[in-house]
Amino acid sequence: MSRFFSEKFANLEAYTPGEQPKDMKYIKLNTNESPFPPSKAVIDAAADEAGKLQLYSDPELTPLVQELASLYGVGRENVIATNGSDEVLNFAFMAFSDKLHPIIFPDITYGFYPVFANLSGIPYEEIPLKEDFTVDYKDYVGKGKNIVIANPNAPTGLALTISEIEEIVKSNPDNVVIIDEAYVDFGGESAIPLTKKYDNLLVTGTFSKSRSLAGARLGFGIASAAIIRDLNTIRYSTNPYNVNRMTMMAGCAALRDNDYYMQNCRTIMENRAYTKSALEALGFRVLDSKANFLFAESAQIDGEELYLKLKAEGILIRHFSKERIKNFNRITIGTRAEMDAFLSATENILKEKK
Ligand code: PMP
Repeated sequence: MSRFFSEKFANLEAYTPGEQPKDMKYIKLNTNESPFPPSKAVIDAAADEAGKLQLYSDPELTPLVQELASLYGVGRENVIATNGSDEVLNFAFMAFSDKLHPIIFPDITYGFYPVFANLSGIPYEEIPLKEDFTVDYKDYVGKGKNIVIANPNAPTGLALTISEIEEIVKSNPDNVVIIDEAYVDFGGESAIPLTKKYDNLLVTGTFSKSRSLAGARLGFGIASAAIIRDLNTIRYSTNPYNVNRMTMMAGCAALRDNDYYMQNCRTIMENRAYTKSALEALGFRVLDSKANFLFAESAQIDGEELYLKLKAEGILIRHFSKERIKNFNRITIGTRAEMDAFLSATENILKEKK
């Protein structure tokens, strides 16, 4: 820390992204990216736009907002596009929470939530997941606080039903409820239709997982027009050109190629079921994931040891040191060949332990 760093950030602990080591070529199953490349139309759209990079992007992001609105059946005034969904989440923390309006979220969830809260000096409370790692929706009913829940949750992959989400939203009418649907396309149920009924619900989504655009940085939020206006006030107060030209055109093309991406999601769901049974056959306890990753633990090997041994074999998975989940690993679902490589390396590591 330099002697100039503001006092207000003295205790800020930054988010740690998944590692991207460069020492060798790894099978990357640690950051929940898609194993499939963008469609050809998306690559062409981004390349065509490169020739116009001397011009600022369109701050209104009109074609993209239009495509998102028609895909999700909402009005253009109900949509905001951002630089990854991390940005819309940060905007939402900034816009709706403060010292007098704290926020609550599960104790085991996306690690960026406490960072966003600390960055903006927002008090927060972590609500423990149940023993079986599910979110108990009743813990959030009538709380009178702002709420953020990833659904499906990360890193567990477990999902709430839409009627449970509705109970939460309905019973906190004077607070904003953010439902982070980064992983919803892998078998979850979207709460977007509820945004028409409840003006306090913000649903966020991303192109990073199901739409193979993690490196382009594109996310979005869907909510009542009033919530979207507030988020735009924050956006125009930080960076009106938050989504660059190439990303905007890539995003539009990805939405037009929806069938290609939804087919990839189905393949990932098949690979997930395959990997889950194979891990269970190896004695792992595997949570019932509706996301593009599995969360698993073995009684035979410590979570950190498995992570390190796989890394030595050129396979990256994600280990978290938080006490409650330190025996678990989160494994992104890749291609069938990648999952076979992961499974056979894991099997060998377990054999050596015997
Ligand atoms: N929400 C959750 C639950 C996530 O796991 C991630 C990915 N790390 C994000 C949001 C943000 O993803 P992005 O900024 O790439 O859209």
